[in-house]
Amino acid sequence: MMNKVFSAEQLDIKDPLRDKAQAFSLPANTVYLDGNSLGPLPKAAKQQADDVVNEQWGKGLITSWNKHQWIHLPQIVGDKIGGLIGAKSGQVICCDSISINLFKVLSAALKMHPSRKVIATTRDNFPTDIYMVQGLLDLLGSDYSIRYVDEACIGSQLTDDIAVLMLTQVNFRSGNKLDMQSITEQAHQKGILTLWDLAHSAGAFPVSLDACNVDFAVGCTYKYLNGGPGAPAFIYVAKRHQAQYQQPLSGWMGHSSPFSFSPDYAGDNSVKQNLCGTPGIIGMSILDAALDVFEDVSLKAIDEKSKKLQAFFIAEAKRAGLLEKFSIVSPNIDNRGSQLAFAHDHAYAICQAWIAEGVIADFRAPNILRIGFAPLYLSFVDIEKAVASLTKIMNEKRYENDEFQQRQSVT
Ligand SMILES: *Cc1c(COP(=O)(O)O)cnc(C)c1O
Repeated sequence: MMNKVFSAEQLDIKDPLRDKAQAFSLPANTVYLDGNSLGPLPKAAKQQADDVVNEQWGKGLITSWNKHQWIHLPQIVGDKIGGLIGAKSGQVICCDSISINLFKVLSAALKMHPSRKVIATTRDNFPTDIYMVQGLLDLLGSDYSIRYVDEACIGSQLTDDIAVLMLTQVNFRSGNKLDMQSITEQAHQKGILTLWDLAHSAGAFPVSLDACNVDFAVGCTYKYLNGGPGAPAFIYVAKRHQAQYQQPLSGWMGHSSPFSFSPDYAGDNSVKQNLCGTPGIIGMSILDAALDVFEDVSLKAIDEKSKKLQAFFIAEAKRAGLLEKFSIVSPNIDNRGSQLAFAHDHAYAICQAWIAEGVIADFRAPNILRIGFAPLYLSFVDIEKAVASLTKIMNEKRYENDEFQQRQSVT
């Protein structure tokens, strides 16, 4: 059978998500391949920012805590996120950052397993995940330790002295995607609690926390969920653990009755206990509106388009001879998230030269050009342009220019 090759334009016409880009306010002449780091601005979020500042805050003043449900926003937004990660309502709350949320969940998990003193994770996990464990261990003293397991064979390294296994489903550098279902099951066979970081999963492909029997999860909302820079993160605590769950950042918003102003802390027996101080309502309201972009699309459709965009990128790159210049560090398409990692000694300068051409990707030390595929607003024509521009940069060795060598604070 002949394999028909479609042009980028033809692929765009056939794309069921092609109209979704209109929901975003995107700059002209830009191909955005970094939505895995900071999602772009949804038009509804822009409008909501105006409304929450000028109407709700400006005119409603303090009455908006009730009138506009600010007080319930962490749960409302949490449940919305829950719908995107396979969690029934009442198990996800929106609050703080991943880093802080890891501290809460890890502390609570250790408390649920007092006879076990080990937190297991991968050495190649996102640094803040490891740093937060290191800080917690410092506080807990020498009984407790961290143990690194090899990403390639996690199951065989699980032993019954491990209290909690903390994993990021999609490796931030390589894009390697772990099998949540089977690893969670293997951990449970050893009595280990699981904590999944969904930073590069939420909004990128279907996640089934309830169906996988996951214990805890955390994630951020400024990547594939397009919540805006520093948008609040989320925590999932499986219903079955909520009565027992006790996290140490016992702020008043996690109290069972904050407005009783009792001098004694009594944590709420729900996921709400994860609230600590007063939530940042402006950011959370913007996120709330941003999430509505997902209302009429399925994560399955997003995942399918991502795979097609990635395959098209690779086919175009191959045709242009780029695959002889880069090595692809990511695993095959079924075992990676919505990103591709290309290794090259000059990856940083190549990325800068690409940005100068209007194609925004990012660099991850030591040598990775990281390309994110966010199907809600990327077209196949965008991919074609991006590859053409990268080909020009490589063929002309444009990355050798001085202007592209200077490292900025954020890469
Ligand atoms: C982006 C990312 C984070 C970010 O953590 P914050 O505390 O929200 O800044 C954490 N973990 C992983 C795996 C990430 O990719």
